[in-house]
Amino acid sequence: MNLDKFERYRLTFGPTPVEPLPRLSQALGGAVEIWAKRDDCNSGLALGGNKLRKLEYIIPDAIASGADTLVSIGGVQSNHTRMVAATAAKLGMKCVVIQESWVPHNDAVYDRVGNIQLTRLMGADSRIVEDGFDIGIRQSWEDALQSVRDAGGVPYAIPAGASVHPLGGLGYVGFAEEVRAQERELGFSFDYVIVCVVTGSTQAGMIVGFAADGRADRVIGIDASGTPERVREQVRGIVDNTASLVQLGRRVEDREIVIVPDYAYPAYGVPSEATNDAIRLAARTEAMITDPVYEGKSMQGMIDLVRKRVFPAGSRVLYAHLGGAPALNGYSYTYRNG
Ligand code: PLP
Repeated sequence: MNLDKFERYRLTFGPTPVEPLPRLSQALGGAVEIWAKRDDCNSGLALGGNKLRKLEYIIPDAIASGADTLVSIGGVQSNHTRMVAATAAKLGMKCVVIQESWVPHNDAVYDRVGNIQLTRLMGADSRIVEDGFDIGIRQSWEDALQSVRDAGGVPYAIPAGASVHPLGGLGYVGFAEEVRAQERELGFSFDYVIVCVVTGSTQAGMIVGFAADGRADRVIGIDASGTPERVREQVRGIVDNTASLVQLGRRVEDREIVIVPDYAYPAYGVPSEATNDAIRLAARTEAMITDPVYEGKSMQGMIDLVRKRVFPAGSRVLYAHLGGAPALNGYSYTYRNG
């Protein structure tokens, strides 16, 4: 699938490494080979992560629009707003980010460490509001856009997770292209891809990318939102829009959009004991750090699906590590004993 016709502003180092996870595979019985694609190590910009792949295709439009301020929205510990702040700093633009109170928390420093600390360090105007979790378009975000206009600036709007943006799905079509090239080098293909899903464009892009060789239904989305029906609807929309942009040439069927709702409990941003066990297992077998909001839940899902033998023996499973470790700083009480 050719992405060359879309302008791309480089924010990442290039293709991300794919590596085997032998100790984790062994700890789960050894019947399945687990690998990881390290999008958490994709850039030198403020610790990197999945949003940069998406922003690479959005930023040319922001520059062309004549904007001087990137405006976006997320939770207090949003990785996305950190990445928008990083991109603005790198481009020499201003940045306003609305940080909603998505997560109940008991860490005294929750709103001063991790993602929000880095966001502030990079000079973004970070505004905390009381609104709760929602992946849709919010009034507070509209208000922020207006406040930039009122001050004489030209805002460029980037929705939560850079997802419901016309170009938001392209970055992860590119991920599928990259995996195909890496598979050619490795001499085998992966049977499944595991990906955390919340605002939807990461999985949606992968679905479109892997639909090109009939593997869309092998992309297993692990919901971390706790609102899986809304997420499915959002993924459906982004898949359709992205498929038409890249001229996939057919409609992706509903059965090709696989989202597992079983691991988001008890709520978005709140880890279960099983999430914490998964985070510890990945850390202790592979020194691979996952967080309680996103990758800890997809790690928990992958571990559970392997243990339940959902993947046939001999399968190769590719875990997409999308970043997110900075949020761990906001959970110091949870992990004070390791
Ligand atoms: N993993 C991390 C670290 C994230 O920051 C996000 C963002 O929401 C996700 C996974 C989920 O990706 P998406 O919002 O594209 O579904």
